[in-house]
Amino acid sequence: MKPLLTVEQLVMRFGGITAIDGLSLEVPRGRITAVIGPNGAGKTTLFNCITGFYRPSAGRIVLHTAEGEQELTRLQGHRIAREARIVRTFQNIRLFAGMTVLENLLVAQHRELQRAARFSLAGLLHTPGYRRAQQAALERARRWLAELGLTQYADLPAGALPYGTQRRVEIARALCTEPQLLCLDEPAAGLNPKESAELNALLLRLRDAHHLTLLFIEHDMNVVMNVSDHVVVMNFGRKIAEGAPQHVQHDPEVIAAYLGAA
Ligand code: ATP
Repeated sequence: MKPLLTVEQLVMRFGGITAIDGLSLEVPRGRITAVIGPNGAGKTTLFNCITGFYRPSAGRIVLHTAEGEQELTRLQGHRIAREARIVRTFQNIRLFAGMTVLENLLVAQHRELQRAARFSLAGLLHTPGYRRAQQAALERARRWLAELGLTQYADLPAGALPYGTQRRVEIARALCTEPQLLCLDEPAAGLNPKESAELNALLLRLRDAHHLTLLFIEHDMNVVMNVSDHVVVMNFGRKIAEGAPQHVQHDPEVIAAYLGAA
């Protein structure tokens, strides 16, 4: 089966620093892919290029869908999120701390509501079309809250929740936009062992029950080994290994990169 996403000879330079140096990789459809590597390897820069935060210096990132190829490197970030339906979370939590959990999930869907408002009569928001869109957004938010075990927190301010729960809210918020590729930047960072085990189960459920394609950056090797189908190992902006987790784990270059970084 064709991969969902291919990265082809990607280069990202910041002045004299080459953060990504001719990287090519595949993100298999309906699978969980982990991107690992020592600090400074270029992992977050890769995410920033895929999601349009950075325009790469060279190379292509291509989404392969039933309709054909879409070159993401030609699209602006907001179009990558909206049209290619690629969404991400960040290394640091970026919720609206003063809003409730439910409100955070509704804000994520403002585009659908905006679109419905545009079709409603000259700003009269209480037309049936707008109300239907509002109802659908609410139902979607409640469905993902339930799926992620967050229903009980719906009306609490997001900023008041424990760290691990906030991380789950971020994932729920991303899921509300119904992505075809979900990119998670270090989702296990700061989680305790119980929360980490819950995250493993959630990622597997998103793959198996919701047929989602996941790409995640992670330093926690337990999570990487337990959930990923495919692993890409980066060092100094290059790919040094790619394949099944058991395969890359024994790769001499991967072992050397990690020992060198220790
Ligand atoms: P970590 O695991 O520590 O998060 P990483 O693998 O995600 O690291 P990146 O954050 O992608 O690594 O950084 C790769 C390199 O690019 C580093 O040398 C970093 O200093 C540099 N870099 C990243 N973003 C910028 C930027 N906006 N301006 C200049 N240099 C940058």
